[in-house]
Amino acid sequence: SFESFYRDTWVEINLSAITHNIEQMDKRLPPRTGIYAVVKANAYGHGDIQVAKQAIEAGAERLAVSLLDEAIKLRRAGITAPILVMGWIRPEDAPVAADQDIAVPVFQKEWLEQLEQSAFNKPLKLHMKWDTGMGRIGIRSTEELDGILSAIEANPWVELEALFTHFATADEKDLKYYEEQAARFDTLYDHFKKVWSQPVEIHTGNSAASMRFPEDMQHYVRFGISMYGLYPSSVVKDERPIDLKPAFSLNSRLIHVKEVPPRESISYGATYQSESEEWIGTVPMGYADGWIRKLQGFEVLVDGKRHPIVGRICMDQFMIKLDREYSIGTKVTLIGKQDNVEVHTDELADYLDTINYEIPCMISYRVPRMYL
Ligand code: PLP
Repeated sequence: SFESFYRDTWVEINLSAITHNIEQMDKRLPPRTGIYAVVKANAYGHGDIQVAKQAIEAGAERLAVSLLDEAIKLRRAGITAPILVMGWIRPEDAPVAADQDIAVPVFQKEWLEQLEQSAFNKPLKLHMKWDTGMGRIGIRSTEELDGILSAIEANPWVELEALFTHFATADEKDLKYYEEQAARFDTLYDHFKKVWSQPVEIHTGNSAASMRFPEDMQHYVRFGISMYGLYPSSVVKDERPIDLKPAFSLNSRLIHVKEVPPRESISYGATYQSESEEWIGTVPMGYADGWIRKLQGFEVLVDGKRHPIVGRICMDQFMIKLDREYSIGTKVTLIGKQDNVEVHTDELADYLDTINYEIPCMISYRVPRMYL
């Protein structure tokens, strides 16, 4: 990861917020249900190793990632908790997963047939993915299910540990499609029970499903966005099934402050012109840090007050209009609170016409993550 000791732009990760969010989720779930902390994509931009360790300490039993590389990174950091890779891996890479005790998904009979049995030293844990309506990966029919089970039985190096599915609309007001997916799961499961007698685990819910419908959850939930303190949608935010604390904040410091006369232009394209004499501050963060050009016009906090971004955002810097002179080194908060004023990740997501998930993910490797 990128080491940065010489720049005044940083992300703060409040690890006690992660603990708080996991504890709240745990309280809401039935006692039978455990938690997979979803730490894919560098823990949604929060830092995978640090968040994984904190999540386990807070009571999550297991970890879920998207890529085999992400799982291996956690193992190399000394993390011994069970890890599930949720995305497809190449069949030729499966022995690596087995060696490191990393569970992987299965949903193609050909994939099982392509496993090179002589390459295995340890058995591989499989989670069968059922596509109940997400339309992404997973088996959809009892025929596919039967084919996969017979291929599993024929291979002494694989064991079926779990069944799982993913909901496409569990965060929406209208629950019709969620219920349809749950019903499709039940139909497949009725068939599964008739043809498979060994015990398996079941995990179906993401943050939205597990917070809203805890009684529907089985052995585990896959807790992602809300572990980081964000609600999966405005619907769930309004319902507020549990109290969440955001873990992510983003800060910088003024590196230049000047007063400009009226009709002075600021930044590329000269798209902004001062109306009167104005104090302009320069913030050392830009689109190469993930602070994208579309954020022109958005607001940041200085001295507990909102100040607008003026002119185009550059690769490494942007300018703001200040309400008065401030000294160099004054703290600028781009996401988070100063006194009682807050720029929330959700506000940024709305401004960019996207979802809150994308915001911490888009803050690039150049911005160091500090842990509180
Ligand atoms: N399960 C799967 C298969 C996922 O792809 C994801 C992330 O999108 C999650 C669980 C976690 O979802 P969320 O972040 O909404 O809790």
